[in-house]
Amino acid sequence: LAGNCSHPVRLRGEAVNLATGEVVPSKLSVACKDRRAIICAACSDLYKADAWILVSAGLIGGKGVLPEVAQRPRLFLTLTAPSFGPVHRRTPSGRCHTFSAGRCAHGHTLNCRRTHNAESKELGTPLCVNCFDYEGAVLWNAYSSKLWNRTVQELRRQLSHLQQAGDSEKPDATTLSYLKVAEFQKRGLVHFHVILRVDSANDHAGETSEPFECTKLIDIVGRVVRSVSWTSPTGRTSRWGAQFDVRDLSSGNDERTKVASYVAKYATKTTNDSLALARRFSSRESITNSTIEPHLARLALTAWDLGDRPELAFLKLQAHAHNFGFTGQIITKSRHFSTTFRDLREVRARFMKKNNLSDPIEGTYAYDGRGYDDPKAAQVAELIHSMTVQLRREMSARRRAEAVNAEGTQS
Ligand SMILES: [Zn+2]
Ligand SMILES: [Zn+2]
Ligand SMILES: [Zn+2]
Repeated sequence: LAGNCSHPVRLRGEAVNLATGEVVPSKLSVACKDRRAIICAACSDLYKADAWILVSAGLIGGKGVLPEVAQRPRLFLTLTAPSFGPVHRRTPSGRCHTFSAGRCAHGHTLNCRRTHNAESKELGTPLCVNCFDYEGAVLWNAYSSKLWNRTVQELRRQLSHLQQAGDSEKPDATTLSYLKVAEFQKRGLVHFHVILRVDSANDHAGETSEPFECTKLIDIVGRVVRSVSWTSPTGRTSRWGAQFDVRDLSSGNDERTKVASYVAKYATKTTNDSLALARRFSSRESITNSTIEPHLARLALTAWDLGDRPELAFLKLQAHAHNFGFTGQIITKSRHFSTTFRDLREVRARFMKKNNLSDPIEGTYAYDGRGYDDPKAAQVAELIHSMTVQLRREMSARRRAEAVNAEGTQS
């Protein structure tokens, strides 16, 4: 009844049957709406589907977004954090590190010539834990949203500057919108995948104007990412890492579908996809007693300890220790990029209501707890969910096969 949710919110109250006027005690289970797959498979799947729609509407229009966006310059940008010390990694050449940086002050060789596979537990862990700047890493995570805001400001400023061509009175011919999703790298630093779109300022007025060239946008993005910085009230300056990637999405449908799927997938992940990092830590001990890897535990402990410093109190780092200091939202977007999660949910609720054949019921409810009364019900919900997913896959495979057959008959 709660959309196959694994641990719904229970509500208790009184309801009025609108057909008979009768008032009866009533219980309701409402889906938890948690985006994380490790917490709730059903709610996470729905969130993932909404994230996919959100991205694809921003790329090609639909759901209230004008179809003209499909003609606009669109980029897929990946921004990383700078280095806070050498870590084990996978590189295009295969080798973890190709040249020796000698030994560190702690006597460790800062060199690893091995080729790590994707499952290697060492990936992301430092070559020397004493050299790794844990404090720098946590604070970079904490300030990364500020650095992003600064980056958007600078992109907008440079776009406007380019088009004014010396005439500062000239109104802006373009608007920049974005959707950004945060993902944790194995080393515990957050990085961002961003879709950028340049609209014509006249789009919303229904007029057409000169198209803006994508190459110009790529130039501006490269310049801004390399040079932008943000300095915290305590004087710490954040910049982007040297590694960043820009892809032009203006041509090629495959690329756009892939991007929507990436974003939807990242949106349902937790810090390292484990239950241990899915919720806030309640104390320093709860971090030391948890089962997470030593490198990630040390990041969480650093965030916890920094949270005690009065000058950093505004960051609320203890509440974000499970995210290694990252305080932002997983998905953020500018207002005009696309539709919203809320709008998508409202449309779905209206649609479901239409299909609900029982008598309409209205009532007042209060919070009564989490989960099902019978603990086995969670397993049943998960089973029904996985069967539903399986059925949906089979149906879509059949539809695709039928479409291919129909094409064959026509030709
Ligand atoms: Zn749920
Ligand atoms: Zn290595
Ligand atoms: Zn060292």
